[in-house]
Amino acid sequence: MISTTHLNTTKDKKTKIIATLGPASSTREILTAMVREGVDVFRINFSHADYTIVEEQIRLIRSINNELSTSVSILADLQGPKLRIGSVAPGSILSSGDILTFSNIPIEGNSQQVFMTYKQFPQDVKVGENILIDDGKLVLNVIETNGLDTVKAVTIQGGPLQSKKGVNLPNTKVSLPALTEKDIADVKFILGLDVDWIALSFVRTPQDIFELKQMISNALGDDEFHPPIIAKIEKPEAIENIDAILDACDAVMVARGDLGVEIPMDSVPAIQKTIVEKARRKAKPVIIATQMMESMIVNLTPSRAEVNDVANSVLDGTDAVMLSGETSVGAHPVEVIQAMSKIIKNIENSDFYINKNTIIDQKFNIESDRFVTNRICLAAVRFGKSTAIKAIATLTHSGYTAFQIASHRPNSEIIVFSANKKVLTMLNLVWGVHAFYYNEKASTDVTIIQVNDMMQEKGIIKPGDFVINLNATPADEGGKTNTLRLTKI
Ligand code: PEP
Repeated sequence: MISTTHLNTTKDKKTKIIATLGPASSTREILTAMVREGVDVFRINFSHADYTIVEEQIRLIRSINNELSTSVSILADLQGPKLRIGSVAPGSILSSGDILTFSNIPIEGNSQQVFMTYKQFPQDVKVGENILIDDGKLVLNVIETNGLDTVKAVTIQGGPLQSKKGVNLPNTKVSLPALTEKDIADVKFILGLDVDWIALSFVRTPQDIFELKQMISNALGDDEFHPPIIAKIEKPEAIENIDAILDACDAVMVARGDLGVEIPMDSVPAIQKTIVEKARRKAKPVIIATQMMESMIVNLTPSRAEVNDVANSVLDGTDAVMLSGETSVGAHPVEVIQAMSKIIKNIENSDFYINKNTIIDQKFNIESDRFVTNRICLAAVRFGKSTAIKAIATLTHSGYTAFQIASHRPNSEIIVFSANKKVLTMLNLVWGVHAFYYNEKASTDVTIIQVNDMMQEKGIIKPGDFVINLNATPADEGGKTNTLRLTKI
């Protein structure tokens, strides 16, 4: 059967928007308005998730997709080994020079002692290492550990010490597993639902990704769709291991909130640019996250610096930009999407962006079984840049060719057809990709005629336009993409 869904022309932008769900974005009315204004992916943050509410959110999003003929994607974000202090008596303050004792016995804290959720802390930490509390607002330095249950630290930068605040240990080799007990329970729950992507927080090594992939394989077997994995880059160790992590994961997120605490925040901009470029070289989608439109949590307009941050992230070449508090608890969840879409469209339509050479010079491995496909995808994008090609259309089962084409950021539309319905929503996170259902098993000639007719029906192309069709020839053998055809409609 051939799908009759229409391209949502109000979302005519290439860079995708991810919006975090929360109390501010919980009704059908608000979610529908957010999708109409340009949300491509909804993120469920499992640091705060209630299972009953999550089930309802997923049901609502799938039903909105049916109603609006959209393919909005769902991303489940695991908390990972996030460290916290326990409860603290109200009014507790730390001043510079004060000594704070961290204990792994669950006591109520005050300005002398506090409970730390990370049991191995006294064994793992070394004298001289820093402890950052509450997004780095409080800074302490370790002066003593008994290697068993107690660590003493001196306050370098003081302030209010509040209950359950996050702790970052930028210099400590934390021995916690990548997947905590909570994450394992959350993954079991998530795999019973209809989600498109899973993000893992505080990734340190490629092994962390393999562990999660193994758990998914064990639970789902080989035949089912495995949600692809996003590695959240927010630890110095992840920066050191970035090449191997990029090989292991399916996508990455520059999680600037924790990253800017774990490393000096002034080094984040250069790291953002480096990760975006490295990810694109490996055709792995990349997301820029946190504080992009922070002032719109309260205000109706963004700051000039926020407008520039979003536009510059688009110029860096990110696949997607992410909103957190702005859409989960903010006062203007619809207006922030409207404002972000406008910023993206403006920069994408500027001569500066259109004329920028966005092609990534991949190093092709002639021995790879993907060599032909990768070469054909780049050829299509180069062709589209030098000649006015309206659309590059491809068929895919796994999404592989869509990732490849998108990584070169063509000026042409990227139109993807797949018989795999899970791939349609998964691809909604990827730069520039619009995916539609197509499950005919026909000859190459007939397939091209049919997909080009569908694109005309949807108003993507019109008579006189040039289109590139990428196919696996012969079409009914389900092989790898090996053919490029240029057609004038
Ligand atoms: C971040 O730290 O930037 C981030 C996206 O992670 P979270 O929102 O889960 O803290």
